Amino acid sequence: MKMTFYGQFVAGEDHIAIRPLIQKNQAFGVGSVLDYSVEEDIKSCSITNFREKNSKAHEKSGDHFGGLTGAPTYFNDEAKCDQHMETFIKCIKASGGSTVDGFSAIKMTALGRPQFLLHLSEVLVKWQRFFTFLALQQGKDGMEAIEQRLELKQLQEFLTKLGAKGDFYSWFSERKADFSGTIDMLDWNSLLDDRVKMSDLLVVPNVELGELEPLLKTFTMEEENQMKRILQRMDTLVKHATDNGVRLMVDAEQTYLQPAISRLTLETQRTYNREKPVIFNTYQCYLKEAYDNVTMDVALSGREGWQFAAKLVRGAYMYQERERAQEIGYEDPINPDYESTNRMYHRCLDYVLDEIALNRKANMMVASHNEDTIKHTLRRMHELGLLPTDNKVSFGQLLGMCDQISFPLGQAGFPVYKYVPYGPVNEVLPYLSRRAQENRGFMKGAQKERELLWQELKRRFASGELLYRPAY
Ligand SMILES: Cc1cc2nc3c(=O)[nH]c(=O)nc-3n(C[C@H](O)[C@H](O)[C@H](O)COP(=O)(O)OP(=O)(O)OC[C@H]3O[C@@H](n4cnc5c(N)ncnc54)[C@H](O)[C@@H]3O)c2cc1C
Repeated sequence: MKMTFYGQFVAGEDHIAIRPLIQKNQAFGVGSVLDYSVEEDIKSCSITNFREKNSKAHEKSGDHFGGLTGAPTYFNDEAKCDQHMETFIKCIKASGGSTVDGFSAIKMTALGRPQFLLHLSEVLVKWQRFFTFLALQQGKDGMEAIEQRLELKQLQEFLTKLGAKGDFYSWFSERKADFSGTIDMLDWNSLLDDRVKMSDLLVVPNVELGELEPLLKTFTMEEENQMKRILQRMDTLVKHATDNGVRLMVDAEQTYLQPAISRLTLETQRTYNREKPVIFNTYQCYLKEAYDNVTMDVALSGREGWQFAAKLVRGAYMYQERERAQEIGYEDPINPDYESTNRMYHRCLDYVLDEIALNRKANMMVASHNEDTIKHTLRRMHELGLLPTDNKVSFGQLLGMCDQISFPLGQAGFPVYKYVPYGPVNEVLPYLSRRAQENRGFMKGAQKERELLWQELKRRFASGELLYRPAY
């Protein structure tokens, strides 16, 4: 294993073993995002019985969450999450000790119970879907999500008719100095911040019963506490990151966990990205909703006065997502084909680049091996007058992939980073399995790298530099 797949994609077993590689890359202008591979998924937990019991219910509702929420069993205990946090702290220290201006990657599923993240995701998605439904009622469909505004008087009347008891009008109008009589999705989502006090306003339709029900019906105090504990772990990590001059990159994971991951990341960004971008969120452009997610969060950061910071990827869980959507019977969350994912990526990329040019507040890592995407970014940066030294746009590639992109970018002075996974073989298996699934794309890349190596070999042979070793 270590001689083949592991050796190609993983830097070593621990932070000491990976040091020479990091230093070598650094000498060529390529930084590192240290990524100690710890990940948990719902599938890896023993949920088979629960799923079988609930399969009928979720088939009927066609939801995203597989009828798994509200399961009473905990799969990933708090002590294990604390252990993971300690591992991330070591990773942050290693990053600070061996790289300048480096990053550490973290996975939220290692810091909280996946079951909780699944449940929180369900709550968030239900709440957003209700807003979309209400926008439809007011004839605001066919617009971009960020542009939809609901007339509050109309909204109050409609919800009262449906049986809601709360005073939505007062809650929103009293909070906004510049209240215009309308609210957008960001205002709507802000109700969730006050969830404990305002639970009578947090209602959603129950399709089966045909009536409104409390959104947080099954969200217990224990789950509130779990959320607090995840945020406390994040706080601890950010403090270590700040002390060590390291930025944190929160990886994106499966769609049924991602709304919660993104929301918790955003909560941390709100506090810590005020002066500079310490925490980066990740946006997966293979998702149909990617553009809405990016534009909403950029708008929120502008409204609340913190720095938007994002890693933009296409997305690594496509096969698993499609399989699950088919198995459970909900709409596939992924774009229908590769071309639409490319269009989505470039749409999000252009949006954030324009935002950077306009306000100089947003920050983005273009995390891709796609040459067209890299060239497009360089061209747009040039057109918009964004300099590599501004340090607002950086590039990222995975270790073992596309050195022919990373190293020239580094040599040309652009901020570029290798994602450097490390850890014992058994811990990195889920990561290696994803690299294997992307096999076809990777083999195309490998073919290209082989051709480039062959050309370089011929060049060195012809110029008598066969044994040449670059100094660093
Ligand atoms: C630095 C870095 C960090 C990363 N972090 C994350 C992360 O946190 N979370 C995460 O999920 N991934 C992450 N990835 C992986 C990333 O999402 C992609 O899987 C990988 O980079 C391949 O995409 P590409 O842009 O490099 O190349 P390309 O070869 O241009 O794109 C391949 C990608 O296109 C999409 N695609 C392919 N076929 C189809 C199809 N038929 N329909 C729809 N879409 C399709 C898939 O997303 C596939 O991975 C990261 C990648 C890098 C380089």
